[in-house]
Amino acid sequence: MSHLVDLTAAQAAEQIRAGEATAAELFEAYRERAAADDLNAFTWVADAAPSENGHASTPLGGVPIAVKDLFCTEGVPSQAASKILEGYRPPYTATVVAKLRDAGAPLLGQTNQDEFAMGSSNENSAFGPVFNPWDRSRVPGGSSGGSAAAVAAGLAPWAIGTDTGGSIRQPAALCGIVGLKPTYGACSRYGMIAFASSLDQAGPLTRDVTDAALLFRHMIGRDPQDSTSLEFPGEIAPPESEDLKGVKLGVPEDLTGAEGGIEPGVRESFEATLGLAERLGATIEPCRLPHAPHALSAYYLIAPAEASANLARFDGVRYGLRLDGDKDLVTMYSRTREVGFGPEVKRRIMLGTYALSSGYYDAYYGTAQKVRTKIAEDFKTAFERFDFIVTPTSPCAAFELGAKTDDPLAMYLNDFLAVPMSLAGIPAISIPSGLSDGLPVGFQLAGPAFSESRLLDAAYALERAIGFDGTGARR
Ligand code: GLN
Repeated sequence: MSHLVDLTAAQAAEQIRAGEATAAELFEAYRERAAADDLNAFTWVADAAPSENGHASTPLGGVPIAVKDLFCTEGVPSQAASKILEGYRPPYTATVVAKLRDAGAPLLGQTNQDEFAMGSSNENSAFGPVFNPWDRSRVPGGSSGGSAAAVAAGLAPWAIGTDTGGSIRQPAALCGIVGLKPTYGACSRYGMIAFASSLDQAGPLTRDVTDAALLFRHMIGRDPQDSTSLEFPGEIAPPESEDLKGVKLGVPEDLTGAEGGIEPGVRESFEATLGLAERLGATIEPCRLPHAPHALSAYYLIAPAEASANLARFDGVRYGLRLDGDKDLVTMYSRTREVGFGPEVKRRIMLGTYALSSGYYDAYYGTAQKVRTKIAEDFKTAFERFDFIVTPTSPCAAFELGAKTDDPLAMYLNDFLAVPMSLAGIPAISIPSGLSDGLPVGFQLAGPAFSESRLLDAAYALERAIGFDGTGARR
């Protein structure tokens, strides 16, 4: 039975379909592992396998899934790792979670994250930090750190997370797994606790590219409950490219130059991967994204601005925590928010409220939106010449717990290479490209809107050539 958890999700689904294992056996094997989690990756684990039979005939075969705590799941604590949502059990389920359940992926558990998805190390969680399974003194990345650590350690076959400015790709990179941030609008945001609504996207975190494609295939589609969701043009088939013949890769010197602060071990792995891509038939050339270095500044105005509006709903009246206000409503609001939000969330609310204030709106928020448009145009121009833009996913490998908690700007720099794609709304995937001093490094490929099929294909060809061994993180 233990061999079951060594399989990728697609392989496990295949075994169930072939009658060599049952969905209930697989669920129980993972449930036991998740319940014994010593990485603090889970905030809640299901107590029993769901009773329905017939999993063998579903597309996802009954392979259970771990879901970031940011997704509302009916009757299950869904708290965005925030004290302000303490005890909140939503009366409905997020569309992507419901779609996956209906396709045959029952809920294994909810995973730890940075509070309201604000962070890059999972240290901003009301449930405490998550430990990186490759080295427990290090962070798993964030904000989807629990999902990434759970998949890397083999506590879950696969997981979903959300990416607003890197939160799927960066933890995937730091944990040595695959993470896909889809085109904005590809997956419904309904039931995803909102951080920055114009950026938030759900996506898969998986052991390999095939699993990412399989999961993504069942997440997409227009949802009448989310007016920004779109019908995905075309189907997502299992990736099968064996080479990169005719594929043009652009390396943006504006991001990969000195400004990016890329660690030597990360650069080495990136360059080795470019070498492999060339051997697979790709052509590689430098390209320009002149406004991309300003992405982080624009992001840290736009995301907090949207967050300050989205988080206004947490007032102690409707959800979770409520502190006594001595019969005064405003005192109740302010005490609840004072105690319920952590320091990073408060910082973002203050930044965002300031950026949206009438005297500064044009200077800050308005300017940031113009920069965002320029960045989207840079990518558009680049994609006239290139199929994909490639960079390392994160400038550094997993860092020590506590190393950046006192320096928000150092923490924000982790997303220097991930945020431009988020602002442009385009898809990007991170795949493990090797190890640097025993820690995983991620390679990022970004493509035009709705190019996920091609992106997954190219990532698959590279993944085969890289031959990354993730077993070092499993226990
Ligand atoms: N690390 C970035 C932030 O703190 C991105 C987070 C995310 O993608 N949810 O905002």
